Formats: sequence, structure tokens, C-alpha cells
Amino acid sequence: MENRKKVFVFGIDCFEPSLVFEQWKKDLPNLSKLMEEGAWGRMESTLPPITVPAWTAMMTSKDPGQLGFYGFRNRKSYDYEELYFANGAYVREKTVWQILSRNRMSSVVLGVPQSYPPKPINGIVVGCFLTPDKNSVYTYPEEIAKEIDSIAEGDYIIDVKDFRTDDKSKLLEQIYVMTRRRFAVVRNWVKSKDWDFFMFVEMGVDRIHHGFWRYHDVNHRLYEKGHEFEFAIRDYYIYLDREIGKVLEILPPETTILVVSDHGAQTMDGAVCVNEFFRREGYLRLKEEPKKQQKLKTSGIDWSGTKCWGEGGYYSRIFMNVEGREPQGIIPKADYEKVRDEIKKKLEELGDENGNPIGTKVFKPEEVYREVKNIAPDLIVYFGNLGWRSAGSVGGGSIHTHENDTGPDDANHARFGLFMMKGGGVKPGKRDGVKIYDIAPTILDHFGIPEEKGMIGSKIE
Ligand SMILES: [Zn+2]
Repeated sequence: MENRKKVFVFGIDCFEPSLVFEQWKKDLPNLSKLMEEGAWGRMESTLPPITVPAWTAMMTSKDPGQLGFYGFRNRKSYDYEELYFANGAYVREKTVWQILSRNRMSSVVLGVPQSYPPKPINGIVVGCFLTPDKNSVYTYPEEIAKEIDSIAEGDYIIDVKDFRTDDKSKLLEQIYVMTRRRFAVVRNWVKSKDWDFFMFVEMGVDRIHHGFWRYHDVNHRLYEKGHEFEFAIRDYYIYLDREIGKVLEILPPETTILVVSDHGAQTMDGAVCVNEFFRREGYLRLKEEPKKQQKLKTSGIDWSGTKCWGEGGYYSRIFMNVEGREPQGIIPKADYEKVRDEIKKKLEELGDENGNPIGTKVFKPEEVYREVKNIAPDLIVYFGNLGWRSAGSVGGGSIHTHENDTGPDDANHARFGLFMMKGGGVKPGKRDGVKIYDIAPTILDHFGIPEEKGMIGSKIE
């Protein structure tokens, strides 16, 4: 058993490569050492670079089209119903730990997005932040839930409650408590469980970016030098590096170590109220003029005058109202491409509030995915190449806003996350061109398991 191959993965949601590799490298001794001794570099995320589907894409080596979900919320049918949340129940492709399980290897999987509801494996699964609350069965085996609370040095916290809050001090405190307790569980299980593969995902970095980016980034519109939270993100990175160091100390020496993130972070310049834009352009008609800014409900849309509508989020999904597809579709099927191209062009041309170009990118699903399963949006939009988010609400009176319509949020996701890898014969040094899809084949190769048919990545050499 002594020389059994092991892989340990630190999954750090939203870990931003420029901060780890450049800006704060000297403040992060444990991560810097991993960089010196291993391979490292930026890692291209999924399109869109969103937690769901990114982690599952990483662990299955399949793109969002193959997975059949295009973000957290997806259309279940072409009816005008509200979107559903794609939790683990919708994952059909085999994850790394399921493949290992089939090969009689055991895994500990802690908080990896879309691991709720937990599916049985050879090992332990602890549900991710999609767990509704701890009264749900969120672990496999179920009994392990009790153990978590007893070893977490306080009640185990799956995720902070509301990261889009104005109570920043409380949010900061909650993030630290959550992370401290998660690492306590990790250290305990590294020693007490029998595992070949161990992976956990810490959400704290994502939450602190969204909550505190304005205080950290001198380029943020609301940056204020000397603010009490100016170094909140940096200090948390330093803290995280120490926690990572404490785990590294207790890992068996033959363990191959990976540090990965699902996407990075960047300043959010503002939000585009995509549905206000569609209303102005005559693409979307409401039954009634909204009296105040409110969420767009499909029940409030006058379909007879609507060609398309959009969803809010870090990126936008545009849905078209097509004859014979949607119940009250008005775009003739034969005109679908023409109208789609017209909408694409209008969105690409929409600048900031002064008309200056912002570099919006618009994608057609069939052009960016290998397959398009389930119901994809008709268009996927990166406003300002993700420098702007999409606000789905209507009635705000303008197309551009600097306040997020779902609560204060300063950061958007960036297209590149990061990876580091030490051990398993990987040569040290910087790598370019690594993709999120390369992680699963790399892990399987380490265990001598051929990659699953249809995996789209290749192992990191
Ligand atoms: Zn994420």
C-alpha cells in the first residue's frame, strides 16, 4: 500500500491566475513552491466560464453542449416556463470519481459543484453549494453528515448564505469561518480515510471576489484608496495559502498534487439591461408597462409582439420566439437564421452609455460546442467580453446600469482559471494552452486508466 498512487486536487473556485502567478506570488509561499516544483499556467475555462457547467466539464472532459447545460439555469422545454437549476441529477456523463469507482479505487469528493444530490461511489461525496440546506441528504453515505459537523471545528458550512449583501463585515467573517471549517474536514479525512483520489472545492474565493473586488481593484469604478477592505482579498489569499500549506504537509509523499480553478475574475464595469434593449429595439413587448424595476417574468410577456428575450447573469442567454417551436412563436422558421444574425449584430454593436464600443461577443451554440444537447440558448452573449454583466430585469428606465439588479456584486468571471500540478512525472515549468478539459484525462492517466471514449481534452505532459 505504501507506493499506491494518489491524486489530491485543491479546487479553488474563481482563483484568479494574475493574482496568484504575478501580483501576490511572493506573499503565497506554498503556492509559489508548487509553481517552482511543478507545471503551472492559466487554464481556459468553458464557454461560458461559469461554475456550472465548468467544474463538471473539468471532471468529465465534455463541453457544455455535450453535457446539455449551459449555465446554472436552463430551459426544460420550449414552453415559456421558468428555468430550472442544473444540479447533479442532470449530469449524465461519467465523472473522474465514477470512473475510478468502477476501477475499484476510492475517492473523497467534497463540495465539488454539481455533486448535489450525491450519487453513490466507492468513497465519500459531500454535496456542493447547490445543496438547498443541511436538512437535505447531502452526503454519501448519508451518515457521514454527522461526522462532518463533529470534525469541522464548528458546524460545517456548505456555502455563505448571501454573498450579494451590503453587510460586508459579516460576509467576510462568514467566508473565513466557512473556509477554516472546510479545511479542518479536509485535514481530518486526508489522514483518517482510505483514498486514492481526494478532491475538494472551496467557494470562498469566488464569494470574496464578488463581494470585495471594488476595494481591491484600482480599476474598479468604486475603488477607494485606503478603504478598510482594500486588502481583504489579498489577506484571504494569504490565509488560503497557509491552509493549503497545512494540507500539503500531511499528504503522503507520493501524492500527485493539483491546484485548479474553474474560471478567473475581472472587474465588472456595469450591466446591460438586455430586455430593456430588446424593448427599445422592438423585439420584446410586455403586457403592461412596469411601474418599477422588476424581474422579467415570462408570464408578463406579450408573445404576439415578441421575437426574443434574455436572461440576466454574468453572461446573457437569448431565447427566440420561433413559430412552431415556442407555443406562440412569431419568427417564421425560415427566417430563424436571418433574425438570429440581426439580433447578434445589434448586440455586438451596442456600446456603453456614451456609445463607445465595449467589445461584446455573441456566440451561436452549434458553432462553439461539439454537440448541442437539451435546449441551448439561441445566443450566448458576453457583454463587453465579460467586462459587463447582463441584467435581466425590466422597468429600470435605462439600458446601462452600474448597479447589479440582484444585489451588490463587483466582479465578473474571467475566461481563464489556473492550474498547478506537481508529481506524476509532470515536468516543471509554465504551460500555455491548457484547457479545463485536460484535467480529467490527466488524472485518469495518472492511475493508468485510459481516458473515456469521447473525452475532449488531453493529458498535461
Ligand atoms: Zn466558479
